[in-house]
Amino acid sequence: MSAVHLSNPVTDLYGIGPAAEEKLAKLDIYTIYDLIAFIPWRYDDWSDVGTIASFDMNDRFDTGTGYDLSFRGTISTNPSVNITSRKKPLSFFVTDGTGRIKLTFFNSQYLAGKFALGDECFVHGTVSLFNGQMQMVNPYIEKAEKIEDNALVRPVYHLTAGITSNNISKWVKTALKLCGHELMSCIPQSIAEQRGFVSPLEAYEKAHFPASLEEARKVREQLAYEELILLGIGMKLYSAGHGIKEVAEQVIPSDPRSIDPVSAAKWSQIKSNLGFALTADQTTAFKDVQTDLMSTTPMNRLIQGDVGSGKTMVAALSMIITALMGKQAVLLAPTSVLATQHYKTISRLMQNCGMDPVLLLGKTKPSEKLEIKEKIADGSARVIIGTHALLTDDIVFKDLALVIADEQHRFGVKQREKLLFKDTAVDGTVRSVHNLIMTATPIPRTLAMVIYGDMATSVIRQKPVGRQEITTWFVNSKKSKAIEEMMSIKLSAGEQVYIVCAKIDKDETESGLDNMVGEPVDGDESVTSVFEMKKIVDSMSDLSQYSSAVLYGSMKEKDKLETMERFIAGDIKILISTTVIEVGVDNPNANVMIIMDADRFGLSTLHQLRGRIGRGDKKSFCLLVSESRSEIALQRMKMMCESSDGFALAEKDLELRGPGDFYGTRQHGIPTLRAANLYTDMKIATEACEAVNKIIEEGGEEAERLNESIRQMFELRFARKMELI
Ligand code: ADP
Ligand code: MG
Repeated sequence: MSAVHLSNPVTDLYGIGPAAEEKLAKLDIYTIYDLIAFIPWRYDDWSDVGTIASFDMNDRFDTGTGYDLSFRGTISTNPSVNITSRKKPLSFFVTDGTGRIKLTFFNSQYLAGKFALGDECFVHGTVSLFNGQMQMVNPYIEKAEKIEDNALVRPVYHLTAGITSNNISKWVKTALKLCGHELMSCIPQSIAEQRGFVSPLEAYEKAHFPASLEEARKVREQLAYEELILLGIGMKLYSAGHGIKEVAEQVIPSDPRSIDPVSAAKWSQIKSNLGFALTADQTTAFKDVQTDLMSTTPMNRLIQGDVGSGKTMVAALSMIITALMGKQAVLLAPTSVLATQHYKTISRLMQNCGMDPVLLLGKTKPSEKLEIKEKIADGSARVIIGTHALLTDDIVFKDLALVIADEQHRFGVKQREKLLFKDTAVDGTVRSVHNLIMTATPIPRTLAMVIYGDMATSVIRQKPVGRQEITTWFVNSKKSKAIEEMMSIKLSAGEQVYIVCAKIDKDETESGLDNMVGEPVDGDESVTSVFEMKKIVDSMSDLSQYSSAVLYGSMKEKDKLETMERFIAGDIKILISTTVIEVGVDNPNANVMIIMDADRFGLSTLHQLRGRIGRGDKKSFCLLVSESRSEIALQRMKMMCESSDGFALAEKDLELRGPGDFYGTRQHGIPTLRAANLYTDMKIATEACEAVNKIIEEGGEEAERLNESIRQMFELRFARKMELI
């Protein structure tokens, strides 16, 4: 067998075939490195071995401190299968000299062949009382001689149907043996010494197979450290050009009196086209941009604001002012639907000012494309809107000064790099453009710092006046009459309804979406799927008369568009979908949203979904349906009902998820983190990134080592996945 490397696919490991490969992909595990980095999210500690007599039932049941017991003992009755009925459970007793416990196994008849009277065993399980005697049902049992010292702190992995923690352990062991030596440390030597960190290989060994909880906790800290360095520094190093001075065009003259009167008049015209006054937050954000455009230092700014807060207006004004100053501005949207929406908005604003925006999409007709390209090349088109079709090499700009990206995290790494439009001149200076990013994903300040580093931010918090508030209710039963009633009332008034589900079909989840909070939903019978919901709706007496349709990500693009168009046109009254409707669907006549299994979605996702309604002048309602009784789930539902502030919700979301955030970060455009928690480890992140930055700036041997290892590990860890987003 040829050498296996960290970057090789998991299928290069013995025991992983196509079936396991597919399941691992659901956990975001593609390479051997991914497998190694997939550390347990918690551990079961079985190392506190006790005696049967010391397990005081009364005490345990009274204080509720848990009913689990680990002990060693001898099998004292014959573990034989009941011959009269093989369906009957297998039962036998184990004694440890202080007392005895009955072990009962369902569907595990094979154990009768594995264990015999007199065997010394290790047992771990939950103790219950059955007919007054102590019993364990389906406990873990293993022959005492087979229990290794460090096997009593049991790793628990986030799993998907068909893969067990034992599978993962076995594969990780092989992976570490084969290529653990290729792991490189990305932590500065001084910090590693000061904190007593071990080699990366040892850290991963201990994370997967710890001898104690304390050991596991210690290496998790080390791995979190490393992960946050990779995230915070890696992107910059990976996309090179670090530390070189860049210059951009000064778009707006610092002295406004030097602006020619014709442009000034056009500007007034445009402002009157607005038809409303900017909100205070919009005004501030636009001022921020204008100030940036007066400088030759490239703008590097993020505008954050909830859906509908008016970001596009600020972007549009920024583009128009750039065009009036004789330069070109580009607005890139992640989908053609969004690009077209932006084009319409901006066209309306630019009416009667003697300039026309252009729209370029992948599907634009070749002849039309050619014409647009010429206009871009000769500078007659100055306000340019489109999708990544604008990022191809055959598009040459005459005088590009401003590039705005909407929901930039939806673009891949390579495309993002192109967005910077860098150009190195002969004298070594780098010519760049002013960059503005818009996002409706509320990113908590702390998180933005890690993802966007030194980027300046403008936040639009307030909504334009006259916006409808959305009333959000929590419904604690899927059978509640309230759901059907609410839908009937709105439907009979001619309005439309969204129903959102956490999965498509029985075993199919929308891939790449943050729709879970901890536990996978595939194969989880309690989660209502899109298709089940369609059947339910069609069978409800009051609802079956209304046309309904399903919508989900893996549908053919053509069918998806057609369904959305029919919904917007009013042909479809009830749209049953996954989170695909999160962006892009804009139907002011849809004023009710029912979110099934709402506890399965992150707060930010719920908020984003809810932003689809409340777009018209009718009263809007969002019903969060969840049968979960978990304290955290209830708290989250309460937050949703009480708050309509996307930022407050995002902060709270990170906080509530607690350590081991598994799915939560994806919608922010960063891939799954394995060790770090962006909320609780924020202090570490800042400290670590500052230390590394300092070392790299100073240069020298350690700087070179870090540069190299961070670059390589980043590539393994994040680069490919960022492109997948
Ligand atoms: P975003 O891009 O943040 O989702 P938009 O800029 O598309 O928001 O604005 C949403 C809607 O609100 C648009 O129809 C827009 O015309 C309108 N709008 C924007 N700013 C204001 C304002 N200051 N006053 C009233 N309406 C506004
Ligand atoms: Mg928008």
